[in-house]
Amino acid sequence: MFYSKSFINTSREDPKVAECRGHKLLLKANFLYMVSSGIYSYLPLGWRVLDKINKIIRSEMNLVGAQELFMSAVQPIDIWKKTGRDKDLEEVMFKFKDRKSREFCLGPTHEEEITEIVKRYISSYKQLPFVLYQIQTKFRDEPRPRFGLMRSSEFIMKDAYSFSLTQQCLEDNYQKMYKAYQIIFDKFKFNYFISEADPGAMGGSASHEFMVPAEIGEDVLYFCPKCKKYYKEEGKCLVCQCETKSEKVVEVGHIFKLGTKYSKAQGAFVLDQQGRRKPLIMGCYGIGVSRILSAVAETSSDSKGLIWPKTIAPFDATLLVLDKSQTQEALSIEALLEKECFSILIDDRKSPAGVKFNDAYLIGNPYIMIIGKNYRESAKIEVEKRETGQKFEIAKDKIKDFFRDEYNIK
Ligand SMILES: [Zn+2]
Repeated sequence: MFYSKSFINTSREDPKVAECRGHKLLLKANFLYMVSSGIYSYLPLGWRVLDKINKIIRSEMNLVGAQELFMSAVQPIDIWKKTGRDKDLEEVMFKFKDRKSREFCLGPTHEEEITEIVKRYISSYKQLPFVLYQIQTKFRDEPRPRFGLMRSSEFIMKDAYSFSLTQQCLEDNYQKMYKAYQIIFDKFKFNYFISEADPGAMGGSASHEFMVPAEIGEDVLYFCPKCKKYYKEEGKCLVCQCETKSEKVVEVGHIFKLGTKYSKAQGAFVLDQQGRRKPLIMGCYGIGVSRILSAVAETSSDSKGLIWPKTIAPFDATLLVLDKSQTQEALSIEALLEKECFSILIDDRKSPAGVKFNDAYLIGNPYIMIIGKNYRESAKIEVEKRETGQKFEIAKDKIKDFFRDEYNIK
């Protein structure tokens, strides 16, 4: 991809609306466009990152046997009245009436809708268990939108729902999801931890939150540096009696054992082996997809700009062409690497070298390759690893091997 032909429009100035480091960098590096307070459009760079985040999530969800669907964002209020959550979530719901005066909302979440769908088709224990999931936009009329995608009115989530006959089966699904979440968050290179949480308005018997420590976090937990354990309450560490330290955290995932709250309220029953009528036992499993974009931007950057982990970077490398006569050579290097599935942003613009370096650091692809003035004699590409600042000189015929090594491809 040529930078000169791309829709990448970085800014030199810090955006005035930015409220925190990650928000500032995402706007300045042109990953996001702010439509209105709490509402964002994802520009091509941001969308590339979201696409990779979604691919990682999809692949792990599919591996545990979850099936993807896509539910409507517009939901009738009637289904919310069945669980009473039209009242519980009233303050954050975007509600409206259609031309026939029927009441609707823009879905802040989908437990009610998925339960309606499932009860329409499931009547016997033989059809159980299963897990359905979607990656979808959700809406909350946020009284105080803050920190860009961290607390926004429109956001993307992955939400999965498990349905089973027995508590044991819910346990099994929950454990599978818990493990899948660990794999997913490991791939995002987060320094995350898992804490037991209060199910709150979701209902159910137990839940776990996946948290990332960040300055802008709105929750506070207490951390034992020795045992690496987190506690809800300030109080010495229960294991080693050390003093705990408070830490601000951001929630990026949350899983719940919902039990029968929704199935009982909405009449989702099946017949068991003995022909008895039993409510479906549900679990639900959320990941804040757009929030992850923000959380990585917030926690992975330096004074020059963003530093994306290899797994979700918009491109694997930016290739700076400092001598216009080498543009063909750049294309040939790109072709070598694209054959191996590495994506390259070739900065072929007429801009001064300083501008190109600034943008390459700001955008934060994991590697910066430079075809410098002396490339014609040396035939060596300078490579800088964004994360560590390490520099390498790699001959063109070895560049493929270099990247394969860096990405641990055997
Ligand atoms: Zn301890």
